Amino acid sequence: MARRKKTTKKVTKKKKVVKKTIKKRAKRKKGVSKKITKKVLEKNINFSKGDDVVQYGAINGQIALQTVRGMRDILPGDQAYWQQIRKIFEKRSVEYGFSRIDTPVIELESLFIKAIGENTDIINSELYTFSAKSGDKVALRPELTASAVRAYIQHGMTILPKPIKLFSMGPVYRYDKPGEGRYREFHQAEFNIFGEDDAILDAQIMQIAHRVLKSLGIKNIQFRVNSIGTIESRKEYLKLLKAYFRSKKSKLPLKYRDMIDTNPMRIFDVKDDKCMQVCAGAPQAIDYLDKESREHFKNLLEYLDELELIYTIDPHLVRGLDYYTRTVFEISVADEHGAKHSLGGGGRFDELVELFGGEPTPAIGFAFGIDRLITEMKRVKAKKYKESQPRVFLAQLGSLAKKKSLQLFADIEQSGILVAESFGRGTLKAQLRYASKLGVDLTLIIGQQEALDDTVIVKNMITGTQETITKKKAVAFVKKNLKEISKLVKRK
Ligand code: AMP
Repeated sequence: MARRKKTTKKVTKKKKVVKKTIKKRAKRKKGVSKKITKKVLEKNINFSKGDDVVQYGAINGQIALQTVRGMRDILPGDQAYWQQIRKIFEKRSVEYGFSRIDTPVIELESLFIKAIGENTDIINSELYTFSAKSGDKVALRPELTASAVRAYIQHGMTILPKPIKLFSMGPVYRYDKPGEGRYREFHQAEFNIFGEDDAILDAQIMQIAHRVLKSLGIKNIQFRVNSIGTIESRKEYLKLLKAYFRSKKSKLPLKYRDMIDTNPMRIFDVKDDKCMQVCAGAPQAIDYLDKESREHFKNLLEYLDELELIYTIDPHLVRGLDYYTRTVFEISVADEHGAKHSLGGGGRFDELVELFGGEPTPAIGFAFGIDRLITEMKRVKAKKYKESQPRVFLAQLGSLAKKKSLQLFADIEQSGILVAESFGRGTLKAQLRYASKLGVDLTLIIGQQEALDDTVIVKNMITGTQETITKKKAVAFVKKNLKEISKLVKRK
C-alpha cells in the first residue's frame, strides 16, 4: 500500500514537471509569434497606434477570433433594438423635413483637424489616421459634422433655398480608452440644419432630440444648455480664462496644466476633483457674450420655456470640439441611482462652413450616440422592433417537391403575402413543427404525390382542416382563406 502511494506521488510529480515544461514552451512560442505578428501587422496596417494589434493578431499563423479592442459585433439578438432605432430616426427625420445624407467613413485627415481643432482630445489622441496608397493622409471619421459640412459645400447646397436639413447615421471611430459604454467604433445619428441663425431653430433641434427619445421609450431626459459666444467674442473671454487658470496653476494636477495655453475651456470637461474645484471659481463664457449672442441665448431660453422642455443652464458646458459657437447643449438621462448617462449633444457651428471656404452660413446640429441609446432602451425595457410575422408556411417533401415549391414560394411572396419556408430542413415533421412555432395561419404542403399531380395541400392551422387544390389556384385560395381567418380572429 505504502509503495503504491510513493509511485503515485512520483507520477504526479512527473506530470507536474511535464505540464510546467509545456506551459513554458507555449509561453516562449507565444512570445515569438507575438513579435512576428506585430511586425507583420504593423507593416500592413499603419494606424496611429499599434498596441492592440499584438493582442489580437494572428498567433502561429492562426487568426485570433476576436474583434479588435474597443470594437464589437452587433449580434442578431440585438438587431431588434437597432431596427427600432432606424425606424424611429427615419420617421422623425422625414416628419421634420430632413433629407438623408451618407458620407464616407474615410476622409482627408486635414478635414477633421480643421473642423475639430488641433488642441482637442479627438485630434490629439483619438483620431485613427493612416496613409492611403496614394500617400494621402486620411482618417476614419471621429464624428459626422465635418463630413456633412464638406458635402454641403462640395455639392453646391449653398445655392438651395434655406434652411437645408440633413440627417446622417453611421459608425464613427475614436481611439478612446474602451470602457463601459465607451467603444472605439460606435454609431451616431446626426441632425443638422444649415442656413438659419434664429434661436427658434436651436429650440426646434432640441425638441427633435426630445421627441426621438420619447418615441424610443426613454424617460427622465435632461438637457443642459449654455452659450459660448462667437469665435470673435470668445477671444476676450479666453484671455481672462487663461489668466485665471495661470493664477491657480499650482492647484491643477500636472497633466492638465498644458491645457491652460492650448485649450483652457476644455479644463471644464475634466472629471477630476482638483480641476473641478478650480473651475468652480473660473469666469464663465455666458458673462462675456457679445450683445447678439446674449440676445440669441435669451430667445432660446424663452422658446424652450414655451415648448416646456426641461433644461438647466450649465455655465461650464463647453463640448470637446472647437467648431461650436453660441448654443451648446447635452442630453443625458438619470438612472435609478441618480447616475447620469450622456446620450448626445450638439450646438451651433455658425462659422464652420466659412472656415471650410463656403459662404458664411449659420448652422446647428446634434448627434446621438446610438450604442448608448440602446443601452438605455434595454435598461428601461423599451419596445423593440417587431418584424411582421409570416402568415403562411410552405413545406415540401422530396426533391421534385422542393423544386416545385420554389416557384410557388415566389408566387405567394410576389402577391404580397409574407411566407416562410425551411428548404434546408429535412423531415416533414420537423418542418411542420417549425411552422407551428412561427404561428402561421396556413401551411402549404407539397409531398411526393402532390409534386407529381401539380397540387398542394392547404392546412388551416386554426381549424385543423385541410384541402387539396391545384397549384395554379394556390395563390388565390391562400388569399381568400387568409381574409376569412382575419375576419374570424377579429370577431373573436
Ligand atoms: P460627442 O460627439 O463626443 O459629443 O458624442 C456624442 C454622443 O456620442 C455622446 O453623447 C455619446 O452618447 C456618444 N459617444 C461618444 N463617445 C463614445 C464612445 N467612445 N463610445 C460610445 N458612445 C460614445
